[in-house]
Amino acid sequence: MAMKAGFSTLLLLIFISFSFSSKASQIIEDQQELPRVMILATGGTIAGVGASAIGADYKAGQKPIEDLLNAVPEIHDVAQVEGEQIANIGSQNMDITTWLKLSKRINEIFENDEADGVVVTHGTDTMEETAYFLSLTVQYDKPVVLVGAMRAFTAISQDGNRNLLDAVIVAASKKSEKVGTVVAMDSQIFTARDVDKTNTLRTSAFRSRNFGPIGTVFDGKVDYYYTSLRKPSHHFDVRDQVTLPEVDILYGYAGSRPDAVGFSLKFGARGIVYAGVGNGNFNDGVKEALIAAAQEGVVICRASRIGAGKVTLHNEVDDAKYKFVVSDDLSPQKARILLMLALTETDDPTAIQELIFTN
Ligand code: GLU
Repeated sequence: MAMKAGFSTLLLLIFISFSFSSKASQIIEDQQELPRVMILATGGTIAGVGASAIGADYKAGQKPIEDLLNAVPEIHDVAQVEGEQIANIGSQNMDITTWLKLSKRINEIFENDEADGVVVTHGTDTMEETAYFLSLTVQYDKPVVLVGAMRAFTAISQDGNRNLLDAVIVAASKKSEKVGTVVAMDSQIFTARDVDKTNTLRTSAFRSRNFGPIGTVFDGKVDYYYTSLRKPSHHFDVRDQVTLPEVDILYGYAGSRPDAVGFSLKFGARGIVYAGVGNGNFNDGVKEALIAAAQEGVVICRASRIGAGKVTLHNEVDDAKYKFVVSDDLSPQKARILLMLALTETDDPTAIQELIFTN
């Protein structure tokens, strides 16, 4: 009898401990439902390999995504991460074909619910351009976080590992659910529209000169302080595009020659962004060449080489008379992207100006 009672107590204990442990493992499983982040790698210094750890001599776009992920195992504590190699290039070689491929893939990832957020590893030289292109062509407001490094993967005190971890934290954060495309570099978060690379060498190379960062990622935590009300009003559908209309950027300086305008026309430009002096100005010779180009149906956008402030209509130039448009506060390289995309839909300067003022 005593033996029988002892046996039932044992069974009861086994049952209690089993149901407790299955509950515990259920709780742990729930906690393990980490957000899903897809990392699309394109190369850059973050994947760069140097001749030595201390020298400045290196080649961008060498290491594959697997090596980048293996170097930061902590990433797997924040998200369920998958990596895909889209390209492995220095971002000075970024081009329209790769932009289209990247944009199509990101749209597909969100359409098929393959991830909650996307991180794009990228060279810093043209990161702001890719970010702006994606902000205008990805049809979802889910997080797309661009990240890179100023020091090669193999350099002493390299910044890539930390930046990559931070970017995944931003993409995985609940707070980023509707943030759209941003750049996360050196603990700061910037909107794609407002960010520029502003230093050729320093790790704190990125700034939004007109409006500042919108948030920070520090110590594993994301904090947003501002939201931009200037989110894209129009998303361009480039899913069927294989290329984009040709738009050149010409640079203004004291004594700049008008011949460059003719060169652009000869090689098929449908638009010209003129990175003028001051508030988008140019000398009389360039002005005549631009007027002639506009009369041939080429869309002329006055931008500025200054890097901050904005270019305004009808100050020293009669834009309405010549059918010129202005870049607002977009840098010449971002105005070019918007103009290329706009030209896929219209070449009416008034409609294009409206797109510039609202995107
Ligand atoms: N030119 C390289 C690139 O853009 C170096 C810049 C960088 O990644 O920091 O990929």
